[in-house]
Amino acid sequence: PPPTLLHPEKWCRGFNHFISQCLIKDFEKRPSVTHLLEHPFIRQARGKDMSLQKQLADLIQAQEQLGFVAKIRYERIHTRRPYRVDAADKYSLDDDLVNLEVLDEDTIIHQLQKRYVDLQIYTYVGDILIALNPFQNLSIYSPQFSKLYHGVKRSSNPPHIFASADAAYQGMVTFSKDQCIIISGESGAGKTESAHLIVQHLTFLGKANNRALREKILQVNPLVEAFGNACTAINDNSSRFGKYLEMMFTPTGAVMGAKISEYLLEKSRVIKQAVGEKNFHIFYYIYAGLFHQKKLSEYRLPEEKPPRYIDNETGRVMQDIITKDSYGRQFEAIKHCFRIIGFTDEEVHSVYKILAGILNTGNIEFAAISSQHQTDKSEVPNAEALDNAAVLLSIGSEELQEALTSHCVVTRGETIIRTNTVDKAADVRDAMSKALYGRLFSWIVNRINTLLHNAESRMNVGILDIFGFENFTRNSFEQLCINIANEQIQFYFNQHIFALEQMEYQNEGIDATTVEYEDNRPLLDMFLQKPMGVLSLLDEESRFPQATDLTLVDKFEDNLRCKYFWRPKRVELCFGIQHYAGKVLYDAYGFLEKNRDTLPADIVVVLRTSENKLLQQLFSSPLTKTGISLHSFMMRHPEETTNMKRQTVASYFRYSLMDLLSKMVVGQPHFVRCIKPNDHREALKFSQERVLVQLRYTGILETVKIRQQGYSHRILFEEFVKRYYYLAFKAHQTPLGSRESCIAILEKSKLDNWVLGKTKVFLKYYHIEQLNLFLREVI
Ligand code: ADP
Ligand code: MG
Repeated sequence: PPPTLLHPEKWCRGFNHFISQCLIKDFEKRPSVTHLLEHPFIRQARGKDMSLQKQLADLIQAQEQLGFVAKIRYERIHTRRPYRVDAADKYSLDDDLVNLEVLDEDTIIHQLQKRYVDLQIYTYVGDILIALNPFQNLSIYSPQFSKLYHGVKRSSNPPHIFASADAAYQGMVTFSKDQCIIISGESGAGKTESAHLIVQHLTFLGKANNRALREKILQVNPLVEAFGNACTAINDNSSRFGKYLEMMFTPTGAVMGAKISEYLLEKSRVIKQAVGEKNFHIFYYIYAGLFHQKKLSEYRLPEEKPPRYIDNETGRVMQDIITKDSYGRQFEAIKHCFRIIGFTDEEVHSVYKILAGILNTGNIEFAAISSQHQTDKSEVPNAEALDNAAVLLSIGSEELQEALTSHCVVTRGETIIRTNTVDKAADVRDAMSKALYGRLFSWIVNRINTLLHNAESRMNVGILDIFGFENFTRNSFEQLCINIANEQIQFYFNQHIFALEQMEYQNEGIDATTVEYEDNRPLLDMFLQKPMGVLSLLDEESRFPQATDLTLVDKFEDNLRCKYFWRPKRVELCFGIQHYAGKVLYDAYGFLEKNRDTLPADIVVVLRTSENKLLQQLFSSPLTKTGISLHSFMMRHPEETTNMKRQTVASYFRYSLMDLLSKMVVGQPHFVRCIKPNDHREALKFSQERVLVQLRYTGILETVKIRQQGYSHRILFEEFVKRYYYLAFKAHQTPLGSRESCIAILEKSKLDNWVLGKTKVFLKYYHIEQLNLFLREVI
């Protein structure tokens, strides 16, 4: 039996829990005091506090004398259940939920809670990482931590986002296979922060000799997020678009470049924001920056009253802009990003002008003029806003006014000019602003891709950070798209975790107790099927000029005959969908318009005449909505080309979802599930109900079950024998890579619970750790 020992937590007194876990694990790996004293944390602490060093050295010495090493060996070798949590201690700490012996919702929640209040925000479930938002800054992301997690066995250190990034990187280098890290969770759960940390660690790992390139890659996220993120009721830095960032590497793992794809930018935010919410960050940054540089007038932006688009709480915004120096600093940071990544001064200047042009466009008003013949004509009473917008966009102000207040119709070969009512003119103005912003955003993304593209790169790690499932009091077209994307990602997750698992067991002739899970395939079919799926029906209806949102819902009702769709009585424009994550009621008001996303040709014509080269480009080359040029799109997807001519949001969305999926399926996936422990952004506060709901949505509960029952490692007989023959055979022997040799090795090692399939050895992952340990002892 092991000698009695000082408790490791006492041993590491003076360090926080996380650091002491790191130290203990490091010590377990190499039980040597000298080695431990060289550990970066201790070196750091030693530098600061001599008494701490002394105390520590004494404790370690005492610990060692008492046989700490002996205890570890005893546990690891003789119990054969090294990481098993004692059944009596139902809620004891552990890094991987799969190791829990008692497995139910209660246990998992308590386990996570216990860890959370101890600031252990990360927990594994097999190879999935659960990340609880700490809502406070933790000092666990420094370069020292990157070093700590570099290329070591996962169990060497406590769970960490760097470990997931590291696993993806090692997987890519070792197997020459693309990897993808899928981060999911609700708004405010920590997806975007996690994505940043992954990029940070990957740039550390993929040390390019080229420092400039590393610098560039690190600027991509901040730049794109200035344009794509905004302050919402839930999150001060909420991503209003989905993002797939691919980091490119050479075969030896040096970082070479990066590429972003963007999904579903919430353009409507440009023209209107809900109470308590804001427009995209960049508008405030630029306003503050120009204010401090006294350049507002150069960009024709008023100093007293900020433009309507960014001022939904009159007066407050200007005060923030003047007083909050964070906005001004962000402006400088964005300038820096532009420069580092390689945008020219001219381009940046054009971007500012377009942004200021959008703000001025928003201030254009319309008033009705009634003459004898026409009562529905409108004009612009505030010529100043119109002129400002026209100057900034480098177009003629009369032409702009024309395009806003009238439109051409071609009937029987004849072109007739029709006037717009005040409401119609305002709609056209807002459509123009949205189009300007949306295309500008795509252009920036596209430009970054060109600047960071590298033809020599061979492999990549993709990081998907996309909005989680949404269910608000009022759910519109945007929520529908977001939720469909989440269904697709959930499907992929299920496929990976459950279906593949079972298929492998079947193929190997192993009896796998079937684990029940909710297959969302039928639901996904209901959305994506052609021609009777939700998106196809929506597109079809969008083509009829006479269609209304009501006829759309009727169409859904007539064609979607399945249990996932229903139509509540008495609420005309409403329909409900049973998503994997719960029931959502959608309000179809505006669906057709949002899907058509039309910009009147008159506006396009005027904008094309712009003398601003960038603006010309935005509206002349037929860009798709992500800025891929139509030409390159056609080369890749000839079959889709006909749809592209009249591209609706739904058809483009379907395409980008498929494109994303095709990238994901070729790669080895890694999942990070972000969880929001409470709705008040409070540190250390853990709401069991909220967490439980999220665990259910993300399929973690089923995952835990299947992982526990399953075998995490499957090794071909031959490979197994090659690796471990030392354990049962003499060095000069050359055993066959056969079933029998495997049995000999496994029996000699006195492991139990393993299974042999037709071609592979199936092992629990703790078997592997034991085998490796034995191997080290034998060698
Ligand atoms: P999401 O992208 O899922 O909507 P974010 O990544 O923007 O959520 O996170 C919301 C906020 O939570 C961040 O602005 C930050 O304040 C906090 N946060 C998230 N993850 C961490 C972390 N690892 N450490 C510290 N704070 C975090
Ligand atoms: Mg985000």
